Amino acid sequence: MSNNTTITNTHPVMQTYNRFPVTLVKGKGSYVWDDTGNKYLDYTSGIATCNLGHVNEQIKSKVSDQLDNLWHCSNLYHIPTQEKLASLLVENTCTDQVFFCNSGAEANEAAIKIARKYAHDVKGTDAYEVVTFKNSFHGRTLATLAATGQEKIQQGFAPMTPGFRYLPYNDIDALDQLASINTCAVLLELVQGEGGVVPADPAWLKKLAAICEQQDLLLMVDEIQTGMGRTGTLFAYQQYEIEPDVITVAKGLGNGIPIGAMLAKQKAADAFTAGSHGSTFGGNPIATTAGLATMEYLLGSDTLQQSDQLAKYLVTELQALVEKYDQVEAIRGKGMLIGIVVKGNAIDYVTKAREHNLLILVAGPNVVRVLPPLTTTKEEIDIFLSVMDQVFAV
Ligand SMILES: *Cc1c(COP(=O)(O)O)cnc(C)c1O
Repeated sequence: MSNNTTITNTHPVMQTYNRFPVTLVKGKGSYVWDDTGNKYLDYTSGIATCNLGHVNEQIKSKVSDQLDNLWHCSNLYHIPTQEKLASLLVENTCTDQVFFCNSGAEANEAAIKIARKYAHDVKGTDAYEVVTFKNSFHGRTLATLAATGQEKIQQGFAPMTPGFRYLPYNDIDALDQLASINTCAVLLELVQGEGGVVPADPAWLKKLAAICEQQDLLLMVDEIQTGMGRTGTLFAYQQYEIEPDVITVAKGLGNGIPIGAMLAKQKAADAFTAGSHGSTFGGNPIATTAGLATMEYLLGSDTLQQSDQLAKYLVTELQALVEKYDQVEAIRGKGMLIGIVVKGNAIDYVTKAREHNLLILVAGPNVVRVLPPLTTTKEEIDIFLSVMDQVFAV
């Protein structure tokens, strides 16, 4: 601390988040507890990370075993859990190879780099531009900030990293401007998460994919929030008639242990050779053990089918609130990624819900975002519904 600056904030943690006045110290399944012993139903799942519930026993036991053996060894050596996790990811998607990193923003950074490198190799140096969409969210690093089509998030950080162009989301006519001689790829969310829980229109996406195919643009889907079963299938693209060239994954991949990944089809993956990209921690033994255990749990149980059924029940019941309350305008989303469009400020409803021991989120100013764990039960959904009824009744 220097003597000649005015101290406005003495907290040791930088104040980049507006935190709720709650300190969480314990979690189990769909519940978390604060430091005074209050129990909350967590329908945020740690922002779509702990998709299989807090302190999932099956994942915990595998991570504990790995803690006894090896924590880190770098990517200069083979890591068996990394190779197994990569195999499971490619066997269960349309992709062929995986690059591991530690977060969503890093996964998108890797996608942007592979798109530029691919185009550089096959088209030449003029094709560097990645098209993204208004109201998207792709991360907070300098390149992913530029990829994010929201001025309020970019505010104050100029100049933006060059090489991005934004089109309106779900606008079929605007797709005529998709390809230019400078374009190398398209990066999009299949349900805009932070941007208000807006699913992609199938006809729009089909046309977008067709243009990518014709113009040899990489079709890159950011499944950081929609992936790992959140929308009812392992990845959201599996509900559309498209085959992405690149898929980015993070949030739910380690069920709360930090890990990210960029999956690519062979033609794109070939653009990365030794030295093209790297990460010290990426694919670390602990993180990939968590990722492998998460994938094995999802593939080896009926969680996806169960959660998809429960999500249908949840959404049908929520629809009743649209009829019942003036301030509830619409319900939208996919699977267990649910948006409640409200009149007034979404944050006010989130605050009220917390007073009733229910944790939920916002997605923009007037959308309440609900992200139940995929392992939630009908009983828990009924608790959630009765709290929401009280929240809107006041
Ligand atoms: C959360 C999120 C990111 C950023 O992930 P971080 O791990 O916070 O870097 C990127 N894209 C989407 C769609 C997200 O939801």
